[in-house]
Amino acid sequence: MIVSIASGKGGTGKTLVATSLALAVSKHASIQILDCDVEEPNANLFVRAPIESAEPVYIPTPQIDADKCSHCGRCAEVCAYHAIAVISDKVLVFPELCHGCGACSYLCPESAIVEANRQVGVVEIGYRGNLELIQGRLDIGEPMPTPVIRKVKTYADRQKDVVIDVAPGTSCPVVEAVKGSDYSILVTEPTPFGLNDLSLAVEMTRDLGIPCGVIINRASLSRDNLIEEYCRESEIPVLLKIPFDRDIATLYSKGIPLVERETRWRNAFLDLFDALKRGQLYVAYNA
Ligand code: SF4
Ligand code: SF4
Repeated sequence: MIVSIASGKGGTGKTLVATSLALAVSKHASIQILDCDVEEPNANLFVRAPIESAEPVYIPTPQIDADKCSHCGRCAEVCAYHAIAVISDKVLVFPELCHGCGACSYLCPESAIVEANRQVGVVEIGYRGNLELIQGRLDIGEPMPTPVIRKVKTYADRQKDVVIDVAPGTSCPVVEAVKGSDYSILVTEPTPFGLNDLSLAVEMTRDLGIPCGVIINRASLSRDNLIEEYCRESEIPVLLKIPFDRDIATLYSKGIPLVERETRWRNAFLDLFDALKRGQLYVAYNA
């Protein structure tokens, strides 16, 4: 089963949930965690898997053979991303804008374009017991996380359970990371901002046709109604509540996984994952 952990908003505890789930399951079975938050991968702060190998991620970027080019302008016309400009007798390529789609080289009438690989990031792989960590890391200054996310996802092993840590928000990189999941857990906090961004995340999963449930982080009895009411109206299960608790915050700030300190939390995440696998998606759990 592939479970993506997303949130409309940053700082809601998404990585806490993703790593807790993966670490809890890894005590009993093999599982992968894919860190697709490639601009800021931090799952390994909690997992602490020694990195054993790395693979660069490339985008094929056009290079112009000036001797063959007739300056017809076709490449600039077909580039949907404005990554090529033809100016009188010059062709300019803007590599940071290029998505590597290959349209320009395919359609160049003079076969004057060859593609050269340009590195945009790296995928790193590490192991800790039953847990395999695959994390993407976008190179500094690179504007496009999607190719790195795509590469990370090629490592997903359908024979195992997979947890995907997704970047916050609902933009293209988030859609790329979430699509193909069997289930999406949306982590939120009981505030008006949390609710607003949760509703956007719910819309995204519905557009993708992926069932979802909600975990309320920093739950406090007086404020949870806000989220619970929305979930009730939208027929989305509240899967778990993690209380607004000083001890949990202290563990998190030290990079100590919740499930390794407290058995009740390990059991809560294990029960939750079992319920997801059995398709009991409408059961609410409280640790
Ligand atoms: S399509 Fe080919 S020939 Fe035409 S301007 Fe571009 S590189 Fe030159
Ligand atoms: S490969 Fe695609 S995105 Fe890149 S310059 Fe060519 S047409 Fe544009």
